[in-house]
Amino acid sequence: MTPLPVEQGLPGWPKRAKQEFREHSGLKELHRAVGRILVELRCPFCAAAVRAYLWSLAGSGKRCECGALLGQRGGWKEKPTA
Ligand SMILES: [Zn+2]
Repeated sequence: MTPLPVEQGLPGWPKRAKQEFREHSGLKELHRAVGRILVELRCPFCAAAVRAYLWSLAGSGKRCECGALLGQRGGWKEKPTA
């Protein structure tokens, strides 16, 4: 799977931010109901377990507590400006 070009990022990112993309290890389905599927994934940056609805991952993404923005295949995180 080819990651999206980093410049594209996801909606909601400041355009100026330098972003790093990492793939996560996959989505684990927790619960399925009409129109909504709850999944859990492992943040590729801080390894926290994050729960989100599949539609939110496909749309604007889910923000991890570490600041990474997670999508269906991976997450983006702003690189620290050193
Ligand atoms: Zn995280």
